[in-house]
Amino acid sequence: MRQPVLFLAHGAPTLALDGGAWGRALRQFAQSLARPAAVLVVSAHWETRGAPRITSAARPGVIHDFGGFPEALYQLDYPCPGDPLLAARIGKPVCADLDGERPLDHGAWVPLRWLFPDAEIPVLQLSLPRPRDAAALLRLGEALRPFRDEGVLLVGSGGLVHNLGRLDWSGEGPPAAWASGFEDWVLDRLASGSPGEFAAALPAAPHLSDAVPTSEHFDPLLVCLGAAGSGPSTLFAVWQMGSLSLRCLHWP
Ligand code: ZN
Repeated sequence: MRQPVLFLAHGAPTLALDGGAWGRALRQFAQSLARPAAVLVVSAHWETRGAPRITSAARPGVIHDFGGFPEALYQLDYPCPGDPLLAARIGKPVCADLDGERPLDHGAWVPLRWLFPDAEIPVLQLSLPRPRDAAALLRLGEALRPFRDEGVLLVGSGGLVHNLGRLDWSGEGPPAAWASGFEDWVLDRLASGSPGEFAAALPAAPHLSDAVPTSEHFDPLLVCLGAAGSGPSTLFAVWQMGSLSLRCLHWP
């Protein structure tokens, strides 16, 4: 059964403890899906120099790759299986090296705890290669596309607008003009042009350097685009602290 593609904003790690409306939206969406054969996550929190890497352990486990959060967060687990054979098969067309040591990072396991709380579906993670450019990320996504027909759910995990240096700690007011301006531009472009046109226009997007000061949270979107094409729908959208977008997208 062909699986959709998801781009998820994973927000702060505390969403693992209190997912609120975001967690409920992910849960509800996952319940509407045919059960995936496996989940492949491309997370902002795994970049590797040179070729991409793909997790290949039979039991990947998790890492608590953050600091300064409540102790309860460090007790959370996601004891899903991996799938070494599938890792080898996916690794080939994307020229990824197998990694039997690397656990799942919070960009993967925090949303997965809401999507599939029983942790019974095998999960793989594919790293973002470094250096990289938009064309290479689109090609990476294209190479992953056939696995959708085998029941692999591709999840890009990051955020459309992610600038931790410009958060408004005073509360939950409306988003800053630069933040919503950039996100509106992205949504508008995704609705019409091809992935290649999107990538070509991106360097001239308004407020790009404010919204995407470093590209690792945005880049999983380009992998999703390569695998799914244009025209995503919004699965969930809310702003946190004035400029952190929790918008999640899906392509059927
Ligand atoms: Zn993150």
